[in-house]
Amino acid sequence: FAFVFLNFGLVDMCGIVAAIARRNIVPVLIEGLKKLEYRGYDSAGLAVLQPQLTRVRSAGRVADLAAQVEGLVAEIGIAHTRWATHGVPSERNAHPHVSNSLAVVHNGIIENFSEIKQRLTAAGYVFTSDTDTEAIAHLITDTQKTTPDLFEAVRLAKKQLIAAYAIAVIHEGDN
Ligand code: GLU
Repeated sequence: FAFVFLNFGLVDMCGIVAAIARRNIVPVLIEGLKKLEYRGYDSAGLAVLQPQLTRVRSAGRVADLAAQVEGLVAEIGIAHTRWATHGVPSERNAHPHVSNSLAVVHNGIIENFSEIKQRLTAAGYVFTSDTDTEAIAHLITDTQKTTPDLFEAVRLAKKQLIAAYAIAVIHEGDN
């Protein structure tokens, strides 16, 4: 499997879509995001496994993202519409956030993200956004150094997060 979905009953504005099938799921991701547009959002993005990780993000509307992914074909993917809480609405802050070969979309807030970010920055991880979400991506990658199994690594990483949230994760090695 390649997804981990943790939902703690959070009611928030953003949208998460994940899909896996033996056919192209890129249109499924886009259709899913379109259905969630009414919730409001400031940017959109998706990541798929082909089997290498490919990410496309847009600071515009889902229609702009749809135009950008024209011709993209994949059988596993995650997608997101963002309602910014940490970092301005922009392409670099749009989800998914990536750490090595792993991508994360996230709904909610990680309250202790700055401690995690400080620790992981000291350990050599380079953050490329202002979001709390990116800390989750690097935390899972770091956990996978000692616990390679994706689900187990997410479970362990989750224990370190003080938050109410939902996430979906894909990893290049787990398709
Ligand atoms: N806190 C995250 C961010 O600012 C996720 C926000 C959301 O739920 O869309 O990127």
